[in-house]
Amino acid sequence: MKKYPCLEIDLGKVSHNVAEINKLATAKGIEIIGIIKGFNAIPEIVQAMIKSGLKFLGASRLENIQPLIAAGIKAEMMLIRIPMLHEVDSVVKLTNCSLNSEISVMEALSLAAIKQNKIHDIILMVDLGDLREGILPEEVYDTAKKIIPLKGIHLKGLGVNFDCVSGFQPSVSALNELVILSQKIEKDLGIVLEVVSGGSTSSLGLVVQDTIPSQVNQLRVGEGILLGHSDIFTNLENTFQDAFILSAEIIELKNKESVPTGKIGRNSFGEIPKFQAEGVRKRAILAVGKQDVYPDHLNPLDKKIKIIAASSDHLIIDVTDSTIDYKVGDEIQFIPSYPGILSITTSKYVSLRFI
Ligand SMILES: *Cc1c(COP(=O)(O)O)cnc(C)c1O
Repeated sequence: MKKYPCLEIDLGKVSHNVAEINKLATAKGIEIIGIIKGFNAIPEIVQAMIKSGLKFLGASRLENIQPLIAAGIKAEMMLIRIPMLHEVDSVVKLTNCSLNSEISVMEALSLAAIKQNKIHDIILMVDLGDLREGILPEEVYDTAKKIIPLKGIHLKGLGVNFDCVSGFQPSVSALNELVILSQKIEKDLGIVLEVVSGGSTSSLGLVVQDTIPSQVNQLRVGEGILLGHSDIFTNLENTFQDAFILSAEIIELKNKESVPTGKIGRNSFGEIPKFQAEGVRKRAILAVGKQDVYPDHLNPLDKKIKIIAASSDHLIIDVTDSTIDYKVGDEIQFIPSYPGILSITTSKYVSLRFI
């Protein structure tokens, strides 16, 4: 018996997506770091990623790493959110490598690593335009010069992030800029930088087109593994887009007007809803709500269903046009978006089922 709402996760499909993306990348000399933040680091999914050949995982929160260690999962770990100054000891203890942009944090990481008798790898993030983390290109050289003498840490390479906050898209020219910066540091400072970390899922598009600069040898991929695409419009060949399916139960099914009577003000979420006058429609209420996932992150599998609205614990859908004669107690299935999966796996009210 399923306990609703239920997130069904097809581990075989996740494994398959990992293997396909890894094959695509390996052919171009690129290592894939499997990013686990998008699904709350559920150990079964992490296992599926490792089974398909990933050796290096990336987490954005240290809290996600401890349970994996407890589950006996062995992989190299990268912290992909730049560390808090107050967590450097745990960063060194739990991970092999972190993305960084603040010299004070790297100095603290150095002290922590010396104390723990470890070498912690640093990827220095460069902001090429996304305006999230990273130092500006003109500061890379001076920052690298400060990092190199620090004991206990090792400057492994440069990295960049695209489209996380500004929608700044990956491009060959931006990645070439990163490569040139990397080469300049190697030459002028007499060191070897092993890694050029060229972004995330969105950079896979350049791998498919075979335009990614050959020096880029690492991508940090989460979304592409879960949903088999390089962006929401472009599926990757031979991958599954439906490894994750959310099922919710119908708790009310009635014919009702499509427009409310009376004066419309703000709803419980502070929004003023808009309605289309379509007369009386067959509406179902599902026992799932914004506390689990916002409705714009759900895509009904039954294409004839329309999502109308949601409150914290109710999702209202229009089933009038469906060819299926739904009943109270039936389940309705959705494919969640990437933010949808994040939200659903964070909700303690959604049960998990692995197939
Ligand atoms: C989230 C994130 C990634 C992975 O992004 P996806 O779109 O899930 O592939 C990579 N690097 C950093 C720094 C991130 O924050």
